[in-house]
Amino acid sequence: MTNLHTSQWNDIIGHVRVNFPDVLRGWFSNLEPRHIRHGVLTIAADNPAQVRYLTKHCRHPFTEAAQAATGMLVSVHFETDHPEPTHTVALSFKHELPELTLNDDYVFDNFVTGPCNRLAHAAAVAVSEAPGKAYNPLFLHGDVGLGKTHLLQAVCHTVREREPNRRVLYLSCETFANHFIEAVEAGALNQFRYRYRNMDALLIDDIQFLGERERSQEEFFHTFNTLHQAQRQIIVCADCCPAEIPSLQKRLISRFNSGLVALLDRPCLETRMAIIRKKAKLRCIEVPEDVIKLIASGIETNIRELEGALVKTDALSQTHDGVITREIALEALGSLATRRTVLIPDIIDLVSSRYGVRVSDLQSRKRTKSITFPRQVCMYLARELTSHSLEEIGGFFGGRDHSTVLHGHRLIGEARSRDAQLDRELGETSNLLARTQQTKESL
Ligand code: ADP
Ligand code: MG
Repeated sequence: MTNLHTSQWNDIIGHVRVNFPDVLRGWFSNLEPRHIRHGVLTIAADNPAQVRYLTKHCRHPFTEAAQAATGMLVSVHFETDHPEPTHTVALSFKHELPELTLNDDYVFDNFVTGPCNRLAHAAAVAVSEAPGKAYNPLFLHGDVGLGKTHLLQAVCHTVREREPNRRVLYLSCETFANHFIEAVEAGALNQFRYRYRNMDALLIDDIQFLGERERSQEEFFHTFNTLHQAQRQIIVCADCCPAEIPSLQKRLISRFNSGLVALLDRPCLETRMAIIRKKAKLRCIEVPEDVIKLIASGIETNIRELEGALVKTDALSQTHDGVITREIALEALGSLATRRTVLIPDIIDLVSSRYGVRVSDLQSRKRTKSITFPRQVCMYLARELTSHSLEEIGGFFGGRDHSTVLHGHRLIGEARSRDAQLDRELGETSNLLARTQQTKESL
């Protein structure tokens, strides 16, 4: 079923045929339009190989053709109902293919690098070019919406493209755990182990959930060891560094730390602008530079939301002749925009007077306990109340690196949950900082 007229579909194929004869293939006659939803025309192909070809070579021709035929600013997506012929061993228990489908857009070409993610990106590229050799394991961590899943899937795309015979498995931690339980219940542990321990590369997303699953954690530990000893690649990502994953066994923390641990930090303005440019290009949306800057300034902490603002701006512009202006972007940003309400110098001033230490000491490299504690309180509040990156926060305190800030944040967070008085004090300080800011704004 499709909400596209047959004549429109014929126009699309005709447009591609006339204007892009080089990409045309005989099997295009079997392509089927599925639907247009949220500005995306989905086209079904017969098999994954065709989907790969279409995605790589035909996205632009089909987008242009679809826009010409429908008069709408649509983009295109190719998919198939037929699974990839699997190189892995067939299993006898229920879910044979626990793998997540990859997002075609999550490739290295579409990933924008900046100071916030350069190391993570370079490590992922290196691993995709030489699985099991470059960094093993590779552990990526960062807040939600900063590109962890994108990088993991980009590694899968690259390995599959370069060496189609490699057995690569990408899945969520949740799927791994569920699959393990199913295998236990079905008495199929041997098959489970055979499957996982024979991979050339195993990529697990959101590994922080492993802490809560005791038996799966145990199983994962042995899977990890077997793969690692055989020099097979392991890549995992989480929303925090290994030591901060709740209930993760020490031996797994040390395994993760034995490879490369790379952070995806919050992007700076310049990187956010570059990401919007890239996303706009992918979606064939024309956005003036001043609007790019406006959106990038409004959303600071989550790239998914940044993308959401772009899409919303584009959608709103459809009611204004499709032209994107600052006014439309402001309307779209509306409630999405996160404003940097608290300033780090204000945090430092307040903490310095509360704890009776000098501002210059907080910003120095002194490590006496009477100074370290309030400094960690500052780092904690800066991380909680501002949208500065770890790197930027470290810059306010004698140029400390991101791991020091993370460490300080974790220590105070833990102390806060144990100590009711500290909890109250931090609550009061946060409120006071918010009020200070409001007063400044109303002046
Ligand atoms: P996470 O897994 O860290 O929560 P995702 O990988 O799902 O985040 O990223 C969220 C969205 O932001 C995705 O659409 C992704 O393509 C995009 N994104 C994140 N980082 C970048 C980047 N550096 N360049 C381009 N797009 C990015
Ligand atoms: Mg993710």
